[in-house]
Amino acid sequence: MLLTCPYCGPRDVSEFTYQGDGNRQRPAPEAQDLQAWNEYVYDRHNPAGDHNEVWQHSGGCRSHIRVTRNTMTHSVSSAVPARGDVHHRATERRKPGAKA
Ligand SMILES: [Zn+2]
Repeated sequence: MLLTCPYCGPRDVSEFTYQGDGNRQRPAPEAQDLQAWNEYVYDRHNPAGDHNEVWQHSGGCRSHIRVTRNTMTHSVSSAVPARGDVHHRATERRKPGAKA
């Protein structure tokens, strides 16, 4: 299977690391809803068809990309930088010296 990194071009999937379901919404850190946290941490869906996923080009430029992959055929219909999404902004806040 080939994935097309937006920065490096088509590469073998062995250069990438699956980072997870791109549809999961993390509850607010102060949320007390244990059911919501339990679903976020443990529940995984297994859709048949197009699936929004986050991958990292760990064997290349190390960027995170958002991929739409058909789980039945493994065909990839889009691969775009994940920059700007919620996960990336959360990571940016943890960098030392970063402005809040
Ligand atoms: Zn890359």
